[in-house]
Amino acid sequence: MNYWICATCGTQFSLSERAPEHCPICEDQRQYVGHQGQEWTSIGLLQEKGYKNVVKQEEQDLIGVGISPRFAIGQRALLLRHEKGNVLWDCISLVDDETVAAIQELGGLSAIAISHPHFYSSMIEWAEHFDAQVFLHAKDRQWVMRESPRIHFWEGRTLSLWDGLTLINCGGHFEGGTVLHWPAGASGKGALLTGDIITVVQDRRHVSFMRSYPNLIPLGSAEIKRILETIEPFSFDQIYGGWWSANVLTDAKTAVARPAQRYLRAIACAGGSA
Ligand SMILES: [Zn+2]
Ligand SMILES: [Zn+2]
Repeated sequence: MNYWICATCGTQFSLSERAPEHCPICEDQRQYVGHQGQEWTSIGLLQEKGYKNVVKQEEQDLIGVGISPRFAIGQRALLLRHEKGNVLWDCISLVDDETVAAIQELGGLSAIAISHPHFYSSMIEWAEHFDAQVFLHAKDRQWVMRESPRIHFWEGRTLSLWDGLTLINCGGHFEGGTVLHWPAGASGKGALLTGDIITVVQDRRHVSFMRSYPNLIPLGSAEIKRILETIEPFSFDQIYGGWWSANVLTDAKTAVARPAQRYLRAIACAGGSA
């Protein structure tokens, strides 16, 4: 029996003797099944192959956690340290004794909150190591491959965790697509942790949005406008995306507004305005 992990997207499934036949997350139009067909691994197999987690400070009270060498889609999680309880934003497939010890030293975890299903990964395994609750938006419930009473499905547009930390449902890439507002981030100017609900692009001064990144399916104008309206009331100067170095470190509000208008103009020209 094993908690099998899809090697393409990194999602861990419920306990089963044999590896599952399908990964619904990869078969969805927003992901893909690799050329070799579906491949499976597990936390034990990843460790046998020498995979480790890298734990690296991003800024004060924000620590990145990612798998090395790169695994699945190269997800990076972020540990947000807070005196009222640390939050793991997004998640990765591997958790091992070294990582648990490193995070315990940083104050452990009170909660795990996740942007969308491409970061569900081994969330229950992580939650059990730290006795933490997992906050997922209810609109993405169908994509949970390992159910657990530790999951709290929240509904509506926002959910306050503590001390102003707020989960914001932007939709877009996924219906339940969520970002986390951290008011104390960026030295008090505020930061958004976004996964790829809002994606930091190569120049790290702009962002973009897609329904599918690997399959290059854009979002429509109504969905982009909804993201912009939803984050408008929140102050932020930085954005931390879902991958190493995918960070906008200054003037992030402009980094969203300007390319969003560029995007809306581009799809309007293509006759795609909704
Ligand atoms: Zn998959
Ligand atoms: Zn994604």
